Order: sequence, then structure tokens, then C-alpha cells
Amino acid sequence: MSGKEIPMTNDQILNTLKKVNDPDLKRDLVSLNMIQDVRVDRDQVYVNVQLTTPACPLKDVIQNDVRNAILQDFPQVKTVQVELSSKVTKNAASGEKLMPDGVKNIIVVGSGKGGVGKSTVALNLALALVHHGARVALLDADIYGPSIPMMLGIRSVGGVPVENDKIIPIEKFGLKVMSIGFIIEEGTPVIWRGPLLGRALDQFLFDVVWGDIDYMIIDLPPGTGDIQLNLAQKINLTGGVIVTTPQNVAVLDAQKAAQMFVELKVPLLGIVENMSHYVCPQCGHQAHIFATEGGQDLATKFGRPVLGRIPLVGSIREGSDSGKPVMLTEGFSLEKQAFLEIAGNVSQEISIHNASKS
Ligand code: ADP
Repeated sequence: MSGKEIPMTNDQILNTLKKVNDPDLKRDLVSLNMIQDVRVDRDQVYVNVQLTTPACPLKDVIQNDVRNAILQDFPQVKTVQVELSSKVTKNAASGEKLMPDGVKNIIVVGSGKGGVGKSTVALNLALALVHHGARVALLDADIYGPSIPMMLGIRSVGGVPVENDKIIPIEKFGLKVMSIGFIIEEGTPVIWRGPLLGRALDQFLFDVVWGDIDYMIIDLPPGTGDIQLNLAQKINLTGGVIVTTPQNVAVLDAQKAAQMFVELKVPLLGIVENMSHYVCPQCGHQAHIFATEGGQDLATKFGRPVLGRIPLVGSIREGSDSGKPVMLTEGFSLEKQAFLEIAGNVSQEISIHNASKS
């Protein structure tokens, strides 16, 4: 083979990789600074590609594209080892808006009304991101029903732990968590909650020792109230996710919540359709009991993607009630798979958004 006479250099490999584009960011891997390391050892090539998120749904595509490009340009190469690493990109600064130190992205999860599974999605999305290898915080701002503590099996923490005037987040299942439920007593009338929460949220964002966080997920109250307004005006949010169930009545409310994001210039990352279809636990048969494509209709209306569809299954409710979220159950399940996909799609949208601002 003539190839043996052509010695390869790292620069030649890099030149080849200039022809490989990140499929989402539509630019080549070299100019995106994604090639971290190239080594050539006779007929073997090693490349390290640094992705913009550990949850990247296109990992395999990128890995194959890199391998194929090298094999095509250098027929003498016998093996190409493509190792993937990741460094989550940060949402660029935006005017006077604030971000807690160390936090790269804040994602708000909203809904048109209560009971559609917003907290379930916020929590399992956060856990799915942890599963993918990200550093994740979960901030429960749902004033009307702070359900995150129960869903995590944290019944009572008796206030928030403080050290040197800073609040220490609770750590559970690899997540750093703060909840309005930790400071509001269960019977507190809703009328007192608004002002209390406004102050508490500021504290939760800026007086908590969060450390380095790739994604902070905020579980919003349902609807379009002051909490959403204040957050969007003051905080540099990377984007919002709207959770809806598929039937028309729910979608109408969800549309108002999505519209609020648009008006407040919070990028709408996409729609999660919860309770999409019923899966029979006995035979696995799937029934679309709400019989509509509500999530898709809403996504189309706003020109944004459906980030995922979660089935209506007993295990999700049982997981929430027992403090063991469905993302943490052993083995394969459709519902776990749905959350992993949603995490991939959300982080993909975030990477695209952050690249567009850089
Ligand atoms: P929200 O935050 O919108 O008020 P929750 O996340 O608290 O809603 O969910 C309401 C109830 O519905 C909870 O008991 C939860 O366990 C249950 N639930 C949510 N999503 C599903 C699902 N896909 N399948 C079964 N039960 C679900």
C-alpha cells in the first residue's frame, strides 16, 4: 500500500476534521474548538472530541463522521479511536440580567395549569441529565404545591441548612435541591406565599452555595403569574420548557404559558407532552385515550419541537409518591427512556441556543 509512505501529521488530521460539521451547530468541529486532542501512532489515530453537552443525542453521528472522514482521507489508517468528552456551554450574558455564580444555564419548566405533571417532568428531567453525566441543580419554585421534597422522599428538613450566612443545598440522588417547601409550613395560606416566595427565590438563587452547575432546572408554579414575570425580567434564563397533556382544554392553557415566555423573551426550548398515551401494564398495549396531538399542535404553533412524549403509567405516580422517581428504577422502561430522550433534546436545544449567541 502506498499509504505507508505518506506520514500523517496532526495538522493533516485537523485539516480533515475541518470538513466535519457538528450537525446541530452547522459549523466544523475544529472552528468550534471541539477537537481537544489528536494523536497519530503509525496506522492508528486517536481523536478526542469535546461535545457541548454530555447528553448529546447525536454522539454516535459525530463519532462516525469523524471516523469516516479520517478513514476516507487516509486509507493507510487501520484504526481510528474517537473518544468523547464534554463541556457544557454557558448562556451568554444578557444586559443587566443576573445569574448565580457557577451556574451555566437556567431552564424553567412551566405549564398552563396544575396537575399536568410539570413537577414530575422537572424532577425526572433533572435526574435524566444527571444520568447523562451533567452537574444539575433543581429549584422548586412551585408556590402552590411544592411537591419536589415529597417526590424525592425528603419529608421534613426543618428549614434550610446555613453555613457562614450561605444556604447549603440538600443533595439527593446526585442533584442539588432547594425547595420552597423547605421553608413554607404546609398549612400556610396561599395569600402569604407570594411575597414570601419572591424573597425566598432571590435567596435560593443567590445565597445558596450551588457550586459548578451545568443545568439548573426551576419548577415554576403553574400558569402565568408574578413569579414567572419576575424571574424572566431579572434572571438570565437560557430557556423554558412547557409541559402539557394532549387534550384541547389543557393545550389552551399551555398556549398562554408558552405565549408568556415568548412575550418575556424567554427562549421556548420546546414542548413536553405528558400522559401522551396509556400503556397497559399487562399486555403493553398503547392507547391514545385523549385522542389528540395536542403537544404537537402547540409545538407547531410556536415553531418549536416536541421534546418528548411521556406515557401515562402507574410507575410514574408510584415513584412520585414513594420518593423514588421513575428515572431511578432499575432496568429499561419506556417512561425512563422518554425522560432520557427529553434530557438529550433539551440539552441539544440549549447548545444550539448558546452557540447562536456566541
Ligand atoms: P403538576 O406539577 O403539573 O401539578 P405533578 O407533577 O405534581 O403535576 O403530577 C400530578 C400527579 O400526576 C402526581 O401524582 C404525579 O405522580 C402524576 N403523574 C404525572 N405524570 C404522570 C404520568 N405520565 N403517568 C402517571 N402519573 C403521572
